[in-house]
Amino acid sequence: MIRQGRKRAIYVCPVAEPGIVDRPVIKTVIIALAGLVFVLWIGLAYWVNKDARRRTRNVFGVGVATLVGLVPYVGPVVYLLFRPSETRNDARSRAAELAAFETIAAGRGTTCPVCTAPVEADFLVCPVCTTRLRGACAHCDAPLQPLWQICPYCATPVAPELDLDAALTQELHAVATLDLAAETADL
Ligand SMILES: [Zn+2]
Ligand SMILES: [Zn+2]
Repeated sequence: MIRQGRKRAIYVCPVAEPGIVDRPVIKTVIIALAGLVFVLWIGLAYWVNKDARRRTRNVFGVGVATLVGLVPYVGPVVYLLFRPSETRNDARSRAAELAAFETIAAGRGTTCPVCTAPVEADFLVCPVCTTRLRGACAHCDAPLQPLWQICPYCATPVAPELDLDAALTQELHAVATLDLAAETADL
């Protein structure tokens, strides 16, 4: 009788063993872990959506990014690999910087090329260092851009200015030819 009782006790135990999952503590831990996994999944998807909105205004792009972000855990990593490198704020500040540089560069155009004193667009001569900035029309005295072939105000053709470089080269050439002729005569 006693042996049978023991055997029964032994049989009861294996039945109880699989029920470990049903123990309240273990059950709570499993539910908590599942909840954590779920919250982390949704949180990552939400972060991908938020990050995509910071980087693009394109609704379609944000939608695709969010869908990719919803793929549990792998999606956000894939998103990180392919997301635009620049946020919209970065792009905006870069554009502002570029515009500021362009303004400075444009401002540089209205300075004397010799002494960098600020000059007006219609100045003929730099008032500080007296460098000739541009020619004047022979007929109406309007300031002319160096490339203009005709005065846009009175349609007078611009007389070709004396090219100092070309004149000097010609002069040197003439002198060299003369020297050569003199040497030949001496011989
Ligand atoms: Zn000057
Ligand atoms: Zn003119």
